[in-house]
Amino acid sequence: MKDCLFCKIVQKEIPTEVLLENDFFIAFNDINPKAPIHVLVIPKKHFQDISDIDGDVIAKFPEFVKTLSDKLGVTDNGYRIITNKGKDAGQIIFHLHFHLLAGKNLGDLI
Ligand code: 5GP
Ligand code: ZN
Repeated sequence: MKDCLFCKIVQKEIPTEVLLENDFFIAFNDINPKAPIHVLVIPKKHFQDISDIDGDVIAKFPEFVKTLSDKLGVTDNGYRIITNKGKDAGQIIFHLHFHLLAGKNLGDLI
């Protein structure tokens, strides 16, 4: 989608170190990490938020995360995945993205 920052990352118009990529998703480091490991996983296709995504794309998400967590070396110790939708959640980028947080004890907020 025009003027979408994350679409530009998908299209490689904004140079970003890609950690993992397949036909459906791309993973890269968050620019402002909130944990020792803070990776963003985004669908290549533009969806505004979690309420907007196609079932056939989200069906591919668990396999991608498994490969990613193995690559990051966090499968055993674990990780947290968060997605923000809308104002009260603090969503600032309106291209669906999942925050994968890991590398320390993440506490008990959730
Ligand atoms: P949310 O929309 O879920 O609140 O968060 C958007 C996230 O995108 C934030 O954690 C922010 O640090 C990250 N972010 C914003 N702009 C960029 C960017 O240009 N590159 C990367 N890698 N991350 C970004
Ligand atoms: Zn987009």
